[in-house]
Formats: sequence, C-alpha cells, structure tokens
Amino acid sequence: MAIKQFKTESKRLLDLMANSIYTNTDIFLRELISNASDALDKRHIMSLTDTSIDASNLKINVDVNKKEKTITISDNGVGMNKQELEDNLGTIAKSGSFDFKQQLDDKQEADIIGQFGVGFYSAFMVANKVEVLSKKVNTDKAYIWSSDMEGYEIKEASKDDYGTTITLHVKDNTKQKKYDNYLESNEIQGLVKKYSDYIRYPIEMMVETYDYKEDGKSEKVTKLETVNSMQPIWKKNKKDIKQEDYDNYYSQEFFDYSKPLKTIHYKVEGNTSYTALLYIPSTRPYNYFTTDYKLGLKLYSRGVFIKDEAKEIVSDYFRFIRGVVDSDDLSLNISREILQQDYQMETLKKSVDKKIKATLTTMLEKDRETYEKFYDEFGGQLKYGCYDNFGINKDVLIDLLLFKSTKEDKYVTLKEYEERMKKKQKEIYFASGESIEKIKKQPQLEQVLDKGYEVLYFTDTVDEFLTQIIREYDGKQFVSIQKADLTSEDEKKELEKKATDTK
Ligand code: ADP
Repeated sequence: MAIKQFKTESKRLLDLMANSIYTNTDIFLRELISNASDALDKRHIMSLTDTSIDASNLKINVDVNKKEKTITISDNGVGMNKQELEDNLGTIAKSGSFDFKQQLDDKQEADIIGQFGVGFYSAFMVANKVEVLSKKVNTDKAYIWSSDMEGYEIKEASKDDYGTTITLHVKDNTKQKKYDNYLESNEIQGLVKKYSDYIRYPIEMMVETYDYKEDGKSEKVTKLETVNSMQPIWKKNKKDIKQEDYDNYYSQEFFDYSKPLKTIHYKVEGNTSYTALLYIPSTRPYNYFTTDYKLGLKLYSRGVFIKDEAKEIVSDYFRFIRGVVDSDDLSLNISREILQQDYQMETLKKSVDKKIKATLTTMLEKDRETYEKFYDEFGGQLKYGCYDNFGINKDVLIDLLLFKSTKEDKYVTLKEYEERMKKKQKEIYFASGESIEKIKKQPQLEQVLDKGYEVLYFTDTVDEFLTQIIREYDGKQFVSIQKADLTSEDEKKELEKKATDTK
C-alpha cells in the first residue's frame, strides 16, 4: 500500500511536535496512557450491552527496550479497525476547530501543547517513527499503521488479542535533548507515577526490585508490577481518609515537611464539576516573595495530570495555596476551542477562590488563633492583593486583614475596629512607625488616646501605602494621627466664638 500524506493541518502539528523544544516532552507518555485508558473505558462500556465482549482484566502495559531503542504502550481496549486507524491517526482536528490560522508564534503554540495535551501526535516529540498495531474487538483482522512523520501507511498484520500496541522508536540524542533518558525503565516508571498514577486501570511494567528470602538476604530481580496506585486520595471518600493520610500526601507532593495549617477537601457539582484537595501551608516558603517561588497547585482532568503551577485556577493573592484540582469537564483535546478552555479555567478559578476565601473567613471567625498564625505567615500576601492593581480586589480581601491596635496591642480586623468606634469618631486612626514600642513614644498618640479613640499600629512598610490605595473602609477614611483633626464640631464652634469675642 502506498504511503499517504498527512493532511496539511496534521502535518503542521506534527512538525510542531517534532520541534517542540520549548515544551515538556515528558508528557507524551501521559497522552498515550490517557488514550489507552479511554480505549479501555470504551471496551468496558461496550461490554455492558454486548455480552459477547469480555471486559475483565483490562490493563495497560508499558515496556522499554533499550537495545531496540523502543518504548511500547499496549492496552487491551476497544482497538481500531483499518478505517478507524485511517480516520483517527491520519488526520488531526477532525472536528476542525483547532484553528491554525490564528497567528500564534511558536512559543504560544508550545504553551498550548504543554497545557492541554495534544493526544497521539505527541508521540513524535520523542520518536522519529511510530507504529500502531491494532485489532478491534469482535473483528478478526489486525492492522498496523506506521509513520516516520513524512507520511503514513496502513498494512494488514497479525495480533492475537484485541486492543492496541503503540511502538515508539526513540529519537537519537541531540545537543538540546537526551532522548536516551526515555529508554531507562526507572525514568519511564517515574513518569507513569508522576503523570498517570491515578489512571483507574493497572499500568504494568517490568521493574527492578528486591526479592527477600527467608534467611533475610535479598536478590535483585526483574518483575512485572503495577506501577500506578489507581486511586487518588482526593477521590476517596472523606470518611476513609485520616488527617495523617492528608499530611503524608502533602509532604510527598509538595516537599514541605511541616504539617499543613489547614486541609480543604471538597467537591463541587454543577456547571463546572471538580474535586479539590487544597492545603494552607503552616509556614511561608523561604523563597515565597521571590520569583523562584513556584505555585503548588496541580491541575488534573478526570484523574489525568495536566499541569503543575496551574496559576490559571487560583488568584494571585491566594498563591500560597497548595493542592490539587481535578476537573470532570476539562477536555484534553486540542481540537476543542481554546476559548472554551479559557472559559472553563475562569469558572474553576472563581470557584476555587471563593472556597479559599470562605475557609479563611470561617477560620477568622471560629478559630482566631490559627488564623493569626496564618496571618503572620501570609498576611503580607493579602495586603499585597488589596493594593495591587489599584485596589481592584480590595473588597474581596479587606475583611481578611489584621492590624495590631492600641487596644491590648492585639490583632484586630477593620470591622472590629469600626464596631468599637466612638460615636463622634469619623475616621480610622493609624500611627506609622518601625515598631509598636517606637510608636508608643510618639507624642501625638497620647492626644488621640485621650479622646478615647483606638489607633492601628502600622509597623509594616506597606501599611501606609495600602491605605493610600484603598482610602477608606466602609466609608471611613484612614487618617494618620499626625494629621488627625481631633477637635469636635462643638469645640470648633467654641473656639470660633472665642476668636470673634476677642476681636
Ligand atoms: P483524542 O484522544 O484527544 O481524541 P488523539 O489524537 O489522542 O485525540 O487520538 C485520536 C483518536 O485515536 C482517539 O479519539 C481514539 O479514537 C483513537 N485512539 C488513540 N489511541 C487509541 C488506543 N490506544 N486505542 C484505541 N483508539 C485509540
């Protein structure tokens, strides 16, 4: 059979894949395993209505052959017939909506690949030749699709069982990239754990392990083992999870060995359905306020890892949050409109933000001690969120702010301050200084206190700047004690009277 040419758009995507130097090429495995898992799902669903289809023992196998320089991913899923191989693998963007006509530069295109996945063609990120041997369930002929990127061909082949076996012929090393790494079975096992741990079917691999004998000695052996854990902690029933499990997962995933201050595990059903397991760390990472700090939020779609540092799904002012968001709706398919992805992300973000705010508000109201601990670590972030962008988010955050005040030198919220304000007091007073001790020595402070007013201590260098941006709280202006006009209306009248009398 003659070699066929790829459709123009497919060819363009293929070239993009092959030259995807900007992108994290590791994701090819996630994509192929995710396809295999879909094929297993399909076989399972078919078996529900067609009793002649056996769907027991569904699994995925990954094999690395260093000598042949191949990686093989097999599944005993639904398989593809000749026409399906042609339709599914010969053409990308069957639905035609991935619009290459948009003038994206290479970097933007690469971002799309990295973020949303691109399915089967990502194989060409690491391979220069790919073979797909497949036999569709309840048919008796198998076919092999193969391509070296220039074109592809489909031939009849032999295969015993139903399903699909994909063989990647790994590229030679280049100056920029060592593709050889992908021929290390440890490396591949690591990628399976990292990206596909929660795939619901077993992913089997030959792995090196130790066999322990009765005499206590051990022997290095190679064994077929399931390398994924199959169920993510956030998908488990809350009542089956101990705080210790949450803490373990936290330290493993986020390399923070101090216990999280708060664990938030919840599920949302509706327009955008998702499950989230979020943590508020108990200590601020040492590099938190530097550009080295990496957001610890991971995005999954139906158990498949999509990306780290998913800043699209949480507002910057909550960037201390770590955890996982697993969406039921996000599509991994590049052939979906990118706009739609943005919309989905935006909805997710709103929902995640709302939950974090609600959690902090409850903590502030019900567990002040823990909240103050949190505030000592991350309060600076909330203040920043308040004044950043000319205060656009101040309404979201203002009630989460705390300041120490002259009343007992303790933290107060602006609301608490307001509630205690004297009847005749119109403004919120603050005093700036290096420390509470130094502020206490300011002569003006006494005058204000004599009036019975409470004063906020502004000891953080951003505090004054913050009030310049937000200006007021619930209609009350922030005023420095240096500028406070403490004479009441009555006193003013009195003074005026005196002045005219003496004229
Ligand atoms: P997507 O999975 O996003 O639809 P892909 O390019 O990854 O796009 O795959 C195209 C199609 O090829 C899939 O929709 C599926 O029908 C088919 N396919 C890919 N891998 C397999 C597999 N392992 N078994 C059966 N069908 C597969």
